[in-house]
Amino acid sequence: MTISQAATKACTISALNTKKQETTNSIESGTILLPGTDCIIKSQASLSAFTSYRVGGAAQWYVAPRNLEAMQASIKYAKERDLPVTILGAGSNLLVSDRGLPGLIIATRHLRYSYFDPQTGQLTVAAGESIPSIAWSAAELGWQGLEWAVGIPGTAGGAVVMNAGAHNSCIADMLVSAQVLLSDGTLKTLTPEQLGYSYRTSLLQGSDYIVTQATLQLKPGADPAQVVALTKQHKKHRLTTQPYNFPSCGSVFRNPKPYAAGWLIEQTGLKGYQIGGAQVAQLHANFIVNRGGAKASDIFCLIRHIQHQVQERWSILLEPEVKMIGEFQAACG
Ligand SMILES: Cc1cc2nc3c(=O)[nH]c(=O)nc-3n(C[C@H](O)[C@H](O)[C@H](O)COP(=O)(O)OP(=O)(O)OC[C@H]3O[C@@H](n4cnc5c(N)ncnc54)[C@H](O)[C@@H]3O)c2cc1C
Repeated sequence: MTISQAATKACTISALNTKKQETTNSIESGTILLPGTDCIIKSQASLSAFTSYRVGGAAQWYVAPRNLEAMQASIKYAKERDLPVTILGAGSNLLVSDRGLPGLIIATRHLRYSYFDPQTGQLTVAAGESIPSIAWSAAELGWQGLEWAVGIPGTAGGAVVMNAGAHNSCIADMLVSAQVLLSDGTLKTLTPEQLGYSYRTSLLQGSDYIVTQATLQLKPGADPAQVVALTKQHKKHRLTTQPYNFPSCGSVFRNPKPYAAGWLIEQTGLKGYQIGGAQVAQLHANFIVNRGGAKASDIFCLIRHIQHQVQERWSILLEPEVKMIGEFQAACG
């Protein structure tokens, strides 16, 4: 049973008018037609709208393919021009520099389809599918296994890369396989063992593999009302314990076990501490929220300040979970 499919040839990224698309194919105009597709590559596209912090400069080039062929064409385009490639999921674990990013930024947000196979209990999803939306779909079908994921506002691809997790579950626990696109344009299927999973990390981090699809093992056959109720309970718990009312990237630091990063930050007296528009959240000290008008540099400097203060007090260096990409200043004032 296919519950959603959005595999068209188009990959337009914004409401550019058709005439402009037909007549522009030059660097000067700000848009380029990706060869062999009807995808528009846009120059100097602001990335702040595509990150959950709502900060960050512009992408030198930006494209959002809607299917695998367009994704392959995007990679080829970058390779032929020696452009560095950055993959953008929902941008919910990213701090993009105010100076923007060089090269081609490839967004997966339009790579979307999902397929629940009742024979195997497996859910196959495209990289750009939203984790909360597949969690709700699974719950409504009475398929157990993704209730924990409802509060994670990322894509399936981002979750596979980050080994996203909550409530003592994580993607590695249920991943059957991930399909990845290599830089030569070929596809490979990898098992969780090959991805070297551990807490919030995988071998995909720092590699140039692009996750295009993931297959997850779920448990069909439960009462949908019960699965929906548990999913709602997890969502409610998140909303009451974490600051979802301001832009953030979720937890900023990995927990240095046996400690919780939030507890260390709170005990260091940093709750509410603010640099520019960036603040250590009152509700959960491992969140930095954008209280309005924050720059990426405010968040970056707050991260450095927290690290410094926690290290002074506890001799523990907190390791960021958030991916900071682009150039940041070496020193904060
Ligand atoms: C309010 C809030 C709550 C959160 N709660 C949690 C939580 O409970 N647990 C948790 O684990 N995380 C949480 N997060 C963090 C975040 O949602 C997860 O890390 C998520 O998995 C990131 O997915 P994404 O699609 O947004 O990835 P992005 O932020 O876009 O990217 C993250 C990294 O993955 C890479 N990447 C993304 N997609 C692909 C792909 N298809 N192929 C190759 N590389 C790719 C990017 O290049 C980047 O390095 C939270 C975030 C917010 C804002």
